[in-house]
Amino acid sequence: MTQFVMRGLMHPADQGGKTGERCVLHLDMDAYFASVEQRDIPIYRGRPLVVCHTSSDFCSHGVVATASYEARPWGVKAGMSVWEARSRCPQARFVHADIPKYLENARRILRICERRSHRIEVFSIDEVFLDLTPALRSLPPGEERWEAAWRLGEALKEDIRRELRLTASVGIGPNKLVAKMASEFRKPDGLTVIRPEQLPGILAPLPVDKLVGVGARMRRNLRAMGIETVGDLARAPREALEWRFGIMGRLLWKAARGEDDSPVARSGEGHEVKSFGHSLSLRGGTDDLECLENTLLGLVDAVTRRMRRDGYLGRTVSLRLRVGYAMGYARARTLEEYTDLSSPVYAAARELLRREASSGLWREPVTTVGVSVSQLRRREEGKQVTIWDCMDQREEKLTVALDALRDRYGEGVVTRASLLGDFALSGMNLAR
Ligand SMILES: [Mg+2]
Repeated sequence: MTQFVMRGLMHPADQGGKTGERCVLHLDMDAYFASVEQRDIPIYRGRPLVVCHTSSDFCSHGVVATASYEARPWGVKAGMSVWEARSRCPQARFVHADIPKYLENARRILRICERRSHRIEVFSIDEVFLDLTPALRSLPPGEERWEAAWRLGEALKEDIRRELRLTASVGIGPNKLVAKMASEFRKPDGLTVIRPEQLPGILAPLPVDKLVGVGARMRRNLRAMGIETVGDLARAPREALEWRFGIMGRLLWKAARGEDDSPVARSGEGHEVKSFGHSLSLRGGTDDLECLENTLLGLVDAVTRRMRRDGYLGRTVSLRLRVGYAMGYARARTLEEYTDLSSPVYAAARELLRREASSGLWREPVTTVGVSVSQLRRREEGKQVTIWDCMDQREEKLTVALDALRDRYGEGVVTRASLLGDFALSGMNLAR
């Protein structure tokens, strides 16, 4: 552990430099949802607080979204059932997750990050990667650059503390993989820099599941091969890993060496497109279901054609309707698989339409019908798969969150959440 350059432990001053190094920062907010609540509501401060995704008024079931640091000594953590959290820490306060509020704070965090780098990747609602390489280009590679990166990390944390009264943990390293691991090393309010020359010594002793992409099942598989630590994995024959796990084997082998070529995806580089959609005003309106379905099919065809042309796959199908002169509204459904084909998109849209039609709420003819596909992912043949493609736990977490919202506030809220939630959703897309 002494090799780590940590806040207050050691200053990065003693190693020779390397050339052509990238410098990536990973920012991870500390107990994000709980910290926001503790900031806003004084009685929550300094005591165990559990923020829940739940559909019940009294937080009696559902899952834990975030536990405050005061609740963690009792073993309460994200993803645990609320029931179990209550039995472990009955004295805690249990509150509902307020996703719109956390998204609003996340946007402000992003604005602060953008002052330090224009190359930013939103990774999840409370995690951001910043490519510091352009900002540090004027400095000679090596010592001076890493010291400057350290100061940038401190300044970023300080801005967030001052402007939002929240703390963050920051990790800095030569790539995203290392930066993310570095931010894990010291929490809360930590700052950790891992320089390339420190990598082998730091990585080797870590349990293998500390690597990005190694979940419980992969850990069991690796253990069956006698691989317990990251060092074991780095020493394992690459061919054996590839034979056993395919491309994932090669990626893990590289990850065990701290290698990761994936870029910090700059906002505005291919990720700008959030959805494809078309809508049509129906002069005078209609309540003829067959006519509406035919219109819908035409719209779906146009949308999926554009998706195929631009090389996107999508997963969430939204139906938009305007009935009479009332406000328009929308319903959404998420497909099992990403697609750019008409038939699954149409099937989902038609189902939403039929459900609406049978709800008995249409008092007037439908005047506008529209369909859109969101939660996009690029379909690039021959695109290099990276270790980040193998991670999807965050998506599961978010799905749980959205399901809980849906349970609580009804189907329509998901549209609201996703409109507000471009931030979270874009983070989700980037992870694919
Ligand atoms: Mg966090």
